Order: sequence, then C-alpha cells, then structure tokens
Amino acid sequence: MEVYPTPDAFRAACDAARGAGKRVGLVPTMGALHAGHLALVDHLGRAGADFKAVTIFVNPLQFGEGEDLDRYPRTLEADLAACRARGVDAVFTPTPENMYPAGFSTKVSVGGVSERLEGAHRPGHFDGVTTVVAKLFHAAGPCVAVFGRKDYQQWRVLERMATDLGFPVEVVGHPIVREADGLALSSRNRYLSAEERAKALAIAEGLRAASAAWAEGEREVARLEALARGPVEAAFDRIDYVSAADPESLAPLPARAERAVILVAAHLGGTRLIDNCELGVDSPP
Ligand code: AMP
Repeated sequence: MEVYPTPDAFRAACDAARGAGKRVGLVPTMGALHAGHLALVDHLGRAGADFKAVTIFVNPLQFGEGEDLDRYPRTLEADLAACRARGVDAVFTPTPENMYPAGFSTKVSVGGVSERLEGAHRPGHFDGVTTVVAKLFHAAGPCVAVFGRKDYQQWRVLERMATDLGFPVEVVGHPIVREADGLALSSRNRYLSAEERAKALAIAEGLRAASAAWAEGEREVARLEALARGPVEAAFDRIDYVSAADPESLAPLPARAERAVILVAAHLGGTRLIDNCELGVDSPP
C-alpha cells in the first residue's frame, strides 16, 4: 500500500493502475475509520474494482461556523493500518493547502436534491462536499466510487453531480453499517457519554417503528413520520428534522406515498447524529 499526499502523485498512481488494465475503486472519507468505512472498502471488490483507493481528508469547506472541524477525530496511523489490513492499494492524504491552492474561489453546487434537510440545516455544507468530491473524482479519474447510505442525501447529491457534470465515475450507495443494537456507526459516536450512547438508540427505535408500520401496509406519511419522531423527541435534546422524503429527489411527499425514505438529524448534548431508512428497501435497524 502506498500513501500519496498530493493530487498529482495520486492521479499518477491511478493512471498507472488503469494502464495495467485495472479498474480503480474509490472510497472518500474524512478518516477516523470504523467498520462502516471498511465495509465500503470491502464493497469495492464486489463492485469490480481491483485497484482500491481510500481518501482521507477532513475537508474544512464542508464544516460550518461553530461545527466540529477543530475537534473532528484525526487518527491517521490507525487508519493507515486498517487500510493496509483491508488490502487497500492507495491512500490519498492531501492537506488543505494542496487541495485548495491560494486564491481558491471555485464552487461546485448541486441544486434541487441538496436544498432541503441537511442542506437547509447546514448552509454551505453540500457545496463543500460536492466541491471536494469533484476534486477527488478529478484526481482519481475513471472509477467506481462507493459512498455510505448513512449520508443518504449526500449520496443522492453526488449521484446527481456525477450525472450532471459527466464524471466518468460510477457512484454506488452502500447500506448503513450498524452496531448490534442498531446505532449507526459514526466517527462522531465517540463524542457520546455512556448515558447519551443509550439515548442515541431512540433514532433506531423510531426508524424500526416506521419500518414495521410500512411492512404492515401503512402509507400515511404523517403517521410514519410521527412513529419515527416519537422516541427521538423523548430522548434527544433537539431535533433538526424527522422527515419522510422522496428517495431520489428528497422532495416532500404527498399525504400518502408508495416510496419513502425517513431521515433523522438530532442533537444529544454537543453531538449531532444523522440516520435514515428507506422504507421497504433497507433492512430496519
Ligand atoms: P465520513 O468519513 O464520515 O465522511 O464518511 C465517509 C464515507 O463513509 C461516507 O460515504 C459515509 O456515508 C460512509 N459511512 C460512514 N458511516 C457509515 C456507516 N455506518 N455505514 C455505511 N457507510 C458509512
């Protein structure tokens, strides 16, 4: 496994792999790798990639004022060891300086699908994500890129970007990896106290209740949202949203729907957690 700190060196490695007849696979991350990230790496093989690349970059552009950029966990040595153990070929570890040259003033901005939910609660967040991922796609070149459905809206926004801008990249969404008790794995879970960790299960509980109702034929959107919201309201300090949306456009739904994803974002103390479940598609938490 080689580690590449600059976009040029990483691009050369990906070009060389393609030159040798290999298919490049890409897993973009912010590091602090856990079993969720590593499941995406494992998926690369199933997605046909035989040159496996992981990027590790805490992207300042996607953090808002007052968010956790400074305290975001950075565990590079452990991350590299995990990648090595997983059979990764290349790790791209750029610095903010070599991603964003002096005077950087270009922005990639996806409309529509990025506007509600995370987009509304974290102004500028998706522009930061799409700008950095566009740069990662340029550095990697033609490839298959695997993203987690943990960040469901992000995955849909990036699909849109790749289609609209004609990136030679196949965007794949991988199911959420959870703890045995249903908590979605997240680099931010380490911020939770034992008491908060227990309360955090309320999200999985709500998503399970909505999934169970869906399986029994419930299609009233307000009812499904109420089932998901109940436990979260009881346990969390503040809710950003518990909303059902159209799985592709993330648009609001009519009163009854035949396809729906329920998305949750809520705060416990200083920690913000997100989760979701596409009803009838994802296994319930
Ligand atoms: P992050 O490092 O948090 O930016 O995440 C990097 C990638 O890993 C994103 O595509 C996330 O959606 C994905 N990811 C993070 N946590 C999970 C999880 N629990 N299950 C599946 N994918 C995940």
